[in-house]
Amino acid sequence: MTLIEQALSTATDTREFLVGPGVITELDGLFKRNLPGAKALVVSDETTWRVAGERVRDNLCRAGVGCLEPLIFPAEPAPYADTDFLGRVREALETGGPDARAVAVGAGTINDLCKRASYELERPYICVATAASVDGYASFGAPITKDGFKKTWPCSAPRAILADSEILLTAPRSLTASGYADLAAKIPGGADWIIADALGEHPIRKDVWETTQVPLLGWLDNPAGLAAGDAKAMGDLFTGLAMTGFAMQTMHDSRPASGAEHLFSHCWEMIDVRCPDGTHPSHGDKVGIGSLCTTHMMESFFSRRFSRSDIDAAMAAYPSPEARKASIEALFAPGPMRDEIVATAMGKFISPEALRVRLERLADVWDTLAAKVKDRLLPFAELRRRFEEAGCPTRPEQIGVAPEDVLVCAKMAQTIRKRYTILDLAFETGRLDSISAELAHIW
Ligand SMILES: [Zn+2]
Repeated sequence: MTLIEQALSTATDTREFLVGPGVITELDGLFKRNLPGAKALVVSDETTWRVAGERVRDNLCRAGVGCLEPLIFPAEPAPYADTDFLGRVREALETGGPDARAVAVGAGTINDLCKRASYELERPYICVATAASVDGYASFGAPITKDGFKKTWPCSAPRAILADSEILLTAPRSLTASGYADLAAKIPGGADWIIADALGEHPIRKDVWETTQVPLLGWLDNPAGLAAGDAKAMGDLFTGLAMTGFAMQTMHDSRPASGAEHLFSHCWEMIDVRCPDGTHPSHGDKVGIGSLCTTHMMESFFSRRFSRSDIDAAMAAYPSPEARKASIEALFAPGPMRDEIVATAMGKFISPEALRVRLERLADVWDTLAAKVKDRLLPFAELRRRFEEAGCPTRPEQIGVAPEDVLVCAKMAQTIRKRYTILDLAFETGRLDSISAELAHIW
C-alpha cells in the first residue's frame, strides 16, 4: 500500500487522490469512478477557467459525462467565500437537477464554496486544484463569511481530488509560497504534538504520524524548485497539504495540521492585521511567521533544562485563579468574544496539585522530550532560509505586525484554544514571558 492509499483508507470522505504532471487527462475516469451517473457542474472563475476549467469540461464531455453550463465567476473582483457566492453555487447545483455534482476548479475559495454548497444539498463533489496554496482542500470544514463574520462551517471533504502539478506551477508565486508555509507549519505543529503527547495531554496517533510527520521534510525539501518550475517539488508540496487534510478527516481533529503557530495566526486575524500595502496577509503568510515564532520559542525553552529543583520556584510564580482571570481579561477588549476566551483559558488553567504533577512529569521526561522536539524541528535559521527561497514572509512587519508586538500575540495565542502547545508548557513553567520577549529581537 502506498502512503496515499494508507491515508485514504482511514479518511472519512475522500476516496481518491490523483497528483502529478499531466493527470488532468485522467479526470474523466476519476469522475466516473467516484460520481457514477452524475452530471458535472464545473465551477471556476475566469482565471481558473483559462488555466484548467475549459480542459476539465472538454475532458469530461468527450468521455460522455453529462456537462451542465459551467458557472464561471468574474476574475475581478475575485470570488469571495461568503454567503452570496455560496448561494450562487447552490442555486446552480439545484438548477442542474438532482444529478448535478460540482467540480470545483480553483484554489481555496472556489473549493470552499463548492464544498459547503454540496454539503448543504447532501451531494458529494470533486476538486480540481489550481494552486498548492492551503491544506484546506482535503479538510472537512469551510471558512465562509456570513454577515461580515468569518466562521468555519462543517462540510464533507471532496469525494476525490485531482492536482495536476503542471497546472499548479502556473499559479501565482504568492499562492504557492502560502501553501509552502502552511505545510512547513506542520514541523513546529508536530513538535507541539510531541509535547502534548509527552505530558499526557494528547497521545500521538501512530498511523497519522506515519502518513504526515514522517514524510514531511521530504515534501518540503525543494523550496527553490517551486519558483523554478520543478513539477516534482510542486507535486510533493500538494501531496503534503492533501495528506494533512486526509489526516484531519481520519482524526476529526485539526491536530495533525496545526499547533501554536496557527494560534498566532488566529490572533492576528482577530486583530485584523494588514500588510504594509493594506491587503490582508494570506493564511500561509501568518502561519509562516507563527512557525518562526514557535520554532524560536521551542529552541529557547529546551535550551534551559527544567529539573525537579525548579519545581518550587515555578509553583511559587503560578498565579491564583483570580489573578489569572484578570491577566487574560487585560489582553482583550471587553465583549462576548472575550468572555468566550476567558472561559476557554480558565478551562485549561490547572490546579496547583495538577501543576505539581505536570512539572514532575516534565522534569522526568525532559531529556527524551527535549531530544525529540529538537529532532522534529528545523532550526530557526534553516526554516527562515527556506521561507526566503519559497518567497514567504520572514519578518512580522511584512504581515503588519511590529516585532515588539509579537510578545503580546504569544500571550493571547496561549489563551484562545484548548489545544495544548509549547505556549501552555511555557506558561505552566513560568517561562512564557521570558521566551516571548525574545521574539522582539530575533528577526
Ligand atoms: Zn493552516
